[in-house]
Amino acid sequence: MAVKGTGESMILKEELKEQAFNLGADLYGVVEASRFDDAPSGHRPADVLSGAKSVIVLGMKYLDGMVELLPVGKEDGNYPQSPREKMFVGHNAFLSAQLDRIGYTLARVLERKGFKTYHQLASQGGTDDRYLVGMLSLKHIAAEAGLGTFGHHSLLVTPQYGPRVRLTAIVTDAEIEPTDKPLAVNLCDGCVRKPCVTHCPAGAIKEPGETEVYSLDKFLCAQYRRTRPTCSVCLKVCIGGRKG
Ligand code: SF4
Ligand code: SF4
Repeated sequence: MAVKGTGESMILKEELKEQAFNLGADLYGVVEASRFDDAPSGHRPADVLSGAKSVIVLGMKYLDGMVELLPVGKEDGNYPQSPREKMFVGHNAFLSAQLDRIGYTLARVLERKGFKTYHQLASQGGTDDRYLVGMLSLKHIAAEAGLGTFGHHSLLVTPQYGPRVRLTAIVTDAEIEPTDKPLAVNLCDGCVRKPCVTHCPAGAIKEPGETEVYSLDKFLCAQYRRTRPTCSVCLKVCIGGRKG
């Protein structure tokens, strides 16, 4: 079953948006599944749901106070398994669970209307550990939906909250009116001191070359993160998340 006509796909977009915000989402976007036709094989919406037409992406904001807990550099409490780190890990898990609940609710709304849905969980990216690549890239989906741009740390940087957001996505065979187009600006422009590059404890972030979106050694990052419950220093120090 498919919604026919722009009017119905617009109604569906607004209905799902209202539900998402009522349930606690801070960000909502919709993008056509065909926009990812050039993604690597196995990582396109149609690879996880045949007949995929739309992708919905949802975001929730980290509490600033929880992000500020994360120790950086030689700050007190900067050791593996510190209570500060563990508290942030718990906050992360909480947001993932909330997003999974909201995503499931929206996916069921679509199912009840007769559409097929796939829900890429916030709590389980389905990462292929050989290449550290998720089944679908939530960040690419969010960027295509106009929710933000890629930062030097490879995280999504949003105009409202910088990188302090967690994401989830739903793929469906329903035609849903897309939201915004990708942002025309680079949200790293104007960030002179590049604290994500200078503070990364693993030295994994470099300034991107002219043709690169970002330059992150994700294996170095993963190796460092295996030594403690979390890192997320780049998320904390990013000026995009410190605008107020
Ligand atoms: S999570 Fe930590 S190690 Fe990984 S890129 Fe960010 S700051 Fe560097
Ligand atoms: S700290 Fe600056 S350069 Fe790094 S991702 Fe944030 S805005 Fe971009």
